[in-house]
Formats: sequence, C-alpha cells, structure tokens
Amino acid sequence: MENKTKGEMLAEELFYKPKNGYDVFDDSEIEKAYAYCEGYKAFIDECKTERECVEKAVTLAKEKGFTLFDRSKSYKPGDKVYTVNNGKAAFFFVFGKKTVDNGIYIAGSHIDSPRLDLKPRPLYQDHDLALFKTHYYGGIKKYQWTTIPLALHGVVCKPGGETVKICIGEDENDPVFVLTDLLPHLAQDQVSAKMSEAIKGENMNILVGSRPFKDDKASEKVKLAVLSALNEKYGITEKDFLSAELEIVPVAKARDVGLDRSMIGAYGHDDRVCSYPALTALLDTQAPEHGIMTMLLDKEETGSDGLTGMKSHFMQYFFEEIAENQGVSYRDMYRHSVCFSADVTAALDPNYPEVMDLRNCSFLNCGVSVGKYHGARGKSSTSDASAEVMAFVADTLDGKALWQTGELGKVDLGGGGTIAMYVAQLGIPTVDMGVPMLCMHAPWELVAKLDVYSTYKAFYSLFNR
Ligand code: MN
Ligand code: MN
Repeated sequence: MENKTKGEMLAEELFYKPKNGYDVFDDSEIEKAYAYCEGYKAFIDECKTERECVEKAVTLAKEKGFTLFDRSKSYKPGDKVYTVNNGKAAFFFVFGKKTVDNGIYIAGSHIDSPRLDLKPRPLYQDHDLALFKTHYYGGIKKYQWTTIPLALHGVVCKPGGETVKICIGEDENDPVFVLTDLLPHLAQDQVSAKMSEAIKGENMNILVGSRPFKDDKASEKVKLAVLSALNEKYGITEKDFLSAELEIVPVAKARDVGLDRSMIGAYGHDDRVCSYPALTALLDTQAPEHGIMTMLLDKEETGSDGLTGMKSHFMQYFFEEIAENQGVSYRDMYRHSVCFSADVTAALDPNYPEVMDLRNCSFLNCGVSVGKYHGARGKSSTSDASAEVMAFVADTLDGKALWQTGELGKVDLGGGGTIAMYVAQLGIPTVDMGVPMLCMHAPWELVAKLDVYSTYKAFYSLFNR
C-alpha cells in the first residue's frame, strides 16, 4: 500500500462524496443488477397505463401468496394482503412480527405517467381524415409527442356492467397512430414561436384514418369507417367513448441504451421505475419484523387529486382497517411508521448542466437519490423530511444500498412535487427517494441500471429492518 499523507487520510475520513456504482459493485453484483433490470423491462413493456400496472402487480402478488384483505379475518405475522382502489391504485401489505401500532415501513410510488387522454367525444372527420381529440395528462413538452408511433390503451365501460379492454398498437401487426407536425418548409412561424406555444394543446389531434366507408349516401364516411372498425373489433359505438378511459401512449418498447448497455430507455419510467422496485422488494421479503406496505398510486402527475390519488382517503381507511383488525391504535401506527416516498428525480445531463447546482444534484450510476425536500419557490409544496428521518435513511441504507442525495435543480428554476407531503399529512415521517433520470416526462425516458437496482436494494433494506 502506498503511503498516504496525514492530510489525505484525514480527507478520506472527513469528506463526503457520492460514489459511482461501477467503483463500488463487484462484477457479480453488476451482473445481478443487470439481470434484475430484465424483469423491469418486461414489466414496463406490459404496463403502460395505471390499470395495467395494477393488474400486473396483483398477479405478481397473488403468485407470492397475497390475498384480498378481508376485515373479518384475523391475520398472523407473515400473512400477505392487498387491496385495490377502483382498478387504478393498489396497496400491498405484509403483517410483521410486531403489531402495527409499533409502526410499519411504507414504500409509496405512482403508476400514472404523462400521456394524451382521449376527450369524451374524441372522434371527428376533417378534410376527409379522421382524428381523435385529446387532452394531455401531466406535464409534457408537447412537441416531443409529434411524429412518433402511438398506441391506444384503455377501457370502455358499457352501461350494464361490461368492461371492454382496448389495446391497439403494441402488437407488431397492429396499426399505430400519430400526432402530425408541420414540415420545416412551412414552419417559419412555428419554429420562431415560444417553445411552449409552438404546439397548442387543442391541436394535439391524433390521426386515425383516411379511408372512407364505401357508400354513396352516408355522411362523414372516414369517421364512419373508423367507428365501424372499432365496432367490429370491440362492439362499441361513438356514445361509448363517454364512459371510457382511453390513453394514447408511445409504442416504443424498453431498450438497452449505450454500447455498454448500462442504461434503459422506455416510456413511463416516471414512476414505474420506482414502483417496480417498491413492489418486488416487498414480494421478496419474508417474515418482516414490522408490517411492510407498498402503495402504488394514481393521479400523481396531476396533483394526487381524486378518488385514486394519494389525497384520497382510501389509503387511510385501509391503514386504519389493518390497525382495527389487530385491535390497536391507527394513530400510534402513523406516528411510529416511516415512509419512503419513491419518485424519480432529475439526474445531471451533460447537455444541460446549467439547470443544476452541481454540488447538490443527482448523477446517473450513483445509486438511489434521497431528497430531503423537493418542491419549488422556497421549498413550497414539499414535506421536507426531518433530520431525524434523514438519519434513519442513512442508518437503513449505509452498506446495503448505494445512495446519493440531490435537489431537483437550481433553487429558482422550477421544481416538482411528489406524494410525500400527503403521506406526511397523516403524521407519518416521510422522505423522498427515487431513481435519478434523464429526459423526464418525455415519451422515452432514460435511467441507469445500477440506480434501478439500488432503489430495489433500498426498499429491501427498509422492509428487512
Ligand atoms: Mn413522478
Ligand atoms: Mn412526473
């Protein structure tokens, strides 16, 4: 060993610097991380909507012995239950050796992603072309959604109770859809407009057909042909769009990125890249000391409002029913619990370093990023985890999961919210953490494999405390 100076040794002892996973992990650990990500890639290709995520998560949980929670039953340590909130959010719970008034460990993440929703009356014909009107969901840069292959996913609920599932564009042989854009030759006004105004939300109409129905007398024959095709395949009429949730999402599948295959590009990493680790870490945990919970939530991208968002009391009721089931105080349960609110954060992008405080940002390959707070404009709309919770995080993760810390960007530039503050509202100490990413909210987002795996390890360490 080379001789270190006193100063070098002291610096080693006193300084803190995030470590790159490739300097920390040995080859077999890297291999494990890459193998774990194959499971994630399969999951994300199958789950492009919140409903699809819930369905898949419940299937995976059932395979591991989870059953639908039943208030009238009594449960023992190690028993596994779940509940589903209206098909779009799901909660998975494993009873610990200690009753829940001793606190439970919670991982919460969201399964909705930015996309284009069909309007209630979407279909129309214009200049002999058929189009779907959309209303975008979540914060998107609209121009990114033009001229890429798009698929249609969702459900149509028919009066009478039948639910028809729709998925067009994922099979190789399926047709796909597209949001058209202007040719550069005629885009002089568009390209000199402000980027936020270059594509108007009201103009995000998806091209779905051009061939008229063969009939001399009928009107709107292209629209008729599209409806006729939908009716043939799914038995629906135009009125059925009123009781439907149909989402336009990118067709693109998850792919390895980079010659070294170290990254993954996919649609909807935000926030399924935290949801999958939160779920699989729970499914892999046997006989925990404390009760453990994974919450997969909807509507985060639009403010966590509504029936299936984090602000809904549904989750609270489920928590309280579990406490009641054990005959203990749910308030004690809240007080003694800890929640890792799992959501993605921005990683440093070498093309745009100017948006980051380079001393307080997250980097690809440096592990799961713990954010004491996010929010914007002077820490508004964030839960701002206490010093005590941050110490709990260090205690849980050090030596078990690679982690770093980072703010979402420079102080006055913007920011973003998560579900953390709504969990904290219940009196549950909560901290933000998640996978650092590039191209957040784009139709195709980027994460690093070691960070996905580190996020899994972080939840696993929490659940196995
Ligand atoms: Mn998110
Ligand atoms: Mn988001």
